Amino acid sequence: MSHTFAICKKCQAANRIQTDKAKDAVCGKCKTPIPFHGLVMDVTTEEFNKLLRISDKPVIADFWASWCGPCKMYGPEFEKASLTSTDAVFVKINTEVEMNLSGSLGIRGIPCTIVFKDGREIKRQSGAMNADEVKSLLHSI
Ligand SMILES: [Zn+2]
Repeated sequence: MSHTFAICKKCQAANRIQTDKAKDAVCGKCKTPIPFHGLVMDVTTEEFNKLLRISDKPVIADFWASWCGPCKMYGPEFEKASLTSTDAVFVKINTEVEMNLSGSLGIRGIPCTIVFKDGREIKRQSGAMNADEVKSLLHSI
């Protein structure tokens, strides 16, 4: 049985979630639905840092912005990859909102995909990818 992690938007509780139940997942603490897109969750910097601390598998993050055309094309592919690559936790981070995080990671171009393991960056890929390329990136770590 595979699992992923999510931070509740309402109470900030960390949740370990069975991937086959993600569609109907609710927070174990406050019962608020967990808003997954596929198995991708939009996270704030605070939620992201929490995930890095609790996740026992790599965390792959798509850094994007609403004005970015390639980001819009990449989003659905990233989501598709999340459904078949359950060996990582998939998150999206809006660079327009989380500017400090994007700045501290030195992100210049978007979309930018970064894989973190044990809280540290281990892989970075600039530009849009298709779902298979996202999976290859994860397999290369
Ligand atoms: Zn909650």
